[in-house]
Amino acid sequence: MDADYIEIDLQLTKDGHLICMHNSTVDATTDGKGKIKDMTLSEIKELNIKGGHKVPSLEEVLDHFGRDVNYYIETKRPQEEEMDLELIRLLEERSLIGVQAYYGQVVIQSFSEESLKNIHKYHASTPKVKLTSSAQLDELDAIEKYAIGAGPKFGALTKEFVEEAKKRDLYVHPYTVNSRKDIEKALELGVDGFFTNYPDRGRDEVSKKFDIYG
Ligand code: CA
Repeated sequence: MDADYIEIDLQLTKDGHLICMHNSTVDATTDGKGKIKDMTLSEIKELNIKGGHKVPSLEEVLDHFGRDVNYYIETKRPQEEEMDLELIRLLEERSLIGVQAYYGQVVIQSFSEESLKNIHKYHASTPKVKLTSSAQLDELDAIEKYAIGAGPKFGALTKEFVEEAKKRDLYVHPYTVNSRKDIEKALELGVDGFFTNYPDRGRDEVSKKFDIYG
């Protein structure tokens, strides 16, 4: 679908492995039940996802796509520093962050300022984006200290927020923008990118917008 990035949410298993899942339990997307932090990776691998798939570990995703895609990876709290350190380890191992990395191939996003600051401590040059469900203007002063952009909830996003962010040279990437109407509105507000479940639709609306402005 020609997306610029693939967006990955992380959860940490009981035995310290990172898996790609949005929720903190396996209930909604697999045939199992329970909290991921109480299960080992091999227990999670026994579960089935509709269509005969298995829950991917981050390592499998990184090994599958390698340098062929860009990654927009979300760390979650309250799993403490362990998640950040394991993420850094896997990315360093593959030179996806650090001196041999291509700038922007990996973006780290989080609602947790603590997590982003923690990663910033080890990899200041890896781009980070702070997610925010409220999109308050007064958050931007803090965000610009460790991040290259803000990821506001689309419903909370205002023109003012975009303008204030741009004054600080911060990118604005709202989530999750799905309908054509909303994608159009986001582009009109001047966002630099957006999270969507429909990258093909997003790509289409972006090219329409480019055509308009020639
Ligand atoms: Ca996410």
